[in-house]
Amino acid sequence: MIWRKSAEAAAQAKEREARLEAEIAALRRQRAIDLEILDGLAEGLLAVNRERRVVLVNRRFEELFDAAGAPGKPMHEVVRVAAVFEAVDRALAGESAVARFSTRNTTIEVRTLPLAAEEIAAVAIFIDVTRLERLESIRRNFISDFSHEVRTPLAGLRSAVETHENLEHLTESEGKQLRRIMSRQLLRLERLVDDISELSRIESGDLLLTLERIDLRKLVDDLCEDFADRATFVVSGENVLADVDALRIQQALSNLIDNAIKYGGGAEPIEIEIAPRGSGAEIRVRDHGEGIAENEKEKIFRRFYRVDKSRSAETGGTGLGLAITKHIVLQHHGSIEVESEPGRGATFIVRLP
Ligand code: ADP
Repeated sequence: MIWRKSAEAAAQAKEREARLEAEIAALRRQRAIDLEILDGLAEGLLAVNRERRVVLVNRRFEELFDAAGAPGKPMHEVVRVAAVFEAVDRALAGESAVARFSTRNTTIEVRTLPLAAEEIAAVAIFIDVTRLERLESIRRNFISDFSHEVRTPLAGLRSAVETHENLEHLTESEGKQLRRIMSRQLLRLERLVDDISELSRIESGDLLLTLERIDLRKLVDDLCEDFADRATFVVSGENVLADVDALRIQQALSNLIDNAIKYGGGAEPIEIEIAPRGSGAEIRVRDHGEGIAENEKEKIFRRFYRVDKSRSAETGGTGLGLAITKHIVLQHHGSIEVESEPGRGATFIVRLP
């Protein structure tokens, strides 16, 4: 009898043990899945206990802080950023917190929150906001540049309109002059708005290129024909085929030719050369104007940048042409640079893959 009872008990115990093992195995599997999900996150994750010891990190966190083998270590051995300590301390005190800091060319936003779990007292999430911050700063600069640029033609318009209103008897030639000023300023405003919307379309990446195989030599010849009433050209080079968006490349080269005409002095012809380069092509646009000083070579591709504001205003420049050209070339995975010996002209070199 006794024997039977203890045999029954042993069988029950065994059954309990098996059930427990199955439950543990299920929990382990669940934990492995949870960790895998955490590792798949684009955000870094750090969990600490009351004593600020690391309980858990995910893969992104390890990448961000070079922190392999972090669990079990005190937090200060893993992260050495004051902003993170403060945010985690706030969470340990029961409040959530947000802070930003920079490390290795990336800007990170850390968000911490308190947790009521026994082994985890605070969790910190690390979000890479580098791109976001860059976009925010582009937007801020864009707005400030834009208002600055718009102010000049607007002021010109206002003063012309006011003069018109205040002068009792306008002579015909005064009237004509005022209307000319107004129409020039309006034209400037229109150009600005056109160029800006074009640039923002290109910059935002909305622009889809329609690639087709075209002959660059032919494209350049056609362009020179369009500009023939404003300058003379010497085109040299072979027929080079390239896969490009013809309209966009035309637009990019038009800007360069337009500049060569505006800033090229006008006495000598503009030289354009097309040549194969590796598996791609190279186009050089050369003028014999004042050229570009060494310290301006990089800046002229920035939007709204003009070397000589007054001269550029005379020619109706918006300072956006080269920015547009550069974006178009970059979208084609090409490059653009300028060579110049000040006083002896400038050569813009476009390379297309
Ligand atoms: P803009 O509308 O003023 O011409 P761009 O972006 O096309 O604007 O050019 C920016 C500035 O670069 C110009 O204002 C001018 O000062 C300078 N630049 C451009 N092309 C030339 C060139 N071929 N020779 C000398 N300076 C140039």
